[in-house]
Amino acid sequence: SPLVGVLALQGDFREHLHSAQTLGARTVAVRRPSELAAVDGLIIPGGESTAIDKLARSFELADPIRERIAAGMPVYGSCAGMILLADRIQDPTLDLSGHPQETFGGIDMTVRRNAFGRQRESFELDLDFGGLEFSAGRDGDGVAPVHAVFIRGPWVESIGDGVEVLAQLEPAEMPAAATVDSRARIVAVRSGNLLATSFHPEVTGELRVHELFIRMIKGEA
Ligand code: GLN
Repeated sequence: SPLVGVLALQGDFREHLHSAQTLGARTVAVRRPSELAAVDGLIIPGGESTAIDKLARSFELADPIRERIAAGMPVYGSCAGMILLADRIQDPTLDLSGHPQETFGGIDMTVRRNAFGRQRESFELDLDFGGLEFSAGRDGDGVAPVHAVFIRGPWVESIGDGVEVLAQLEPAEMPAAATVDSRARIVAVRSGNLLATSFHPEVTGELRVHELFIRMIKGEA
């Protein structure tokens, strides 16, 4: 079975390791370039994208991750991980010397951090999610919705050609503070071998997003 790496610098990497292990995958916590080199796919967890960016640069993982992404390695990012897979951030945080936070990039999209509001506006809902047809029930039952937990997550402000929308939120489904206009907001995308969600399937026991990702690593999705 493929070796699934979880970037383990900051954030909820333990939950992602657990989800992948529950699905029977071999896993490794990635903190060094040599560990990255061995994996068949990588998960970037939720946490703080600024902290993960800084640590990845100081652990000399940022450039190797960019190189693996360019070479086609499958990567799944949840929440902060989605931000790190975006080619562009709408309002990047500046560090004390004025240097904007960086991303690994790979997905032609612009993300807006903390788009749904602050921590106390965290919310949960059931979402239709594309690409999970493998989980459909036999007797013509459809694909069950994905229970999604949003914790200061980003939304996807805009996407380029070749980025597939897997899930979005209607204004009525968002916290009131986030409904600045009447647009639906993209919260899950796939672009080639890259997968990203604004929310955290790793905290709910929802395993199908990780199953989709492992199928991508195996070349089955
Ligand atoms: N707000 C965080 C960031 O911008 C993401 C939050 C999360 O991963 N739960 O990095």
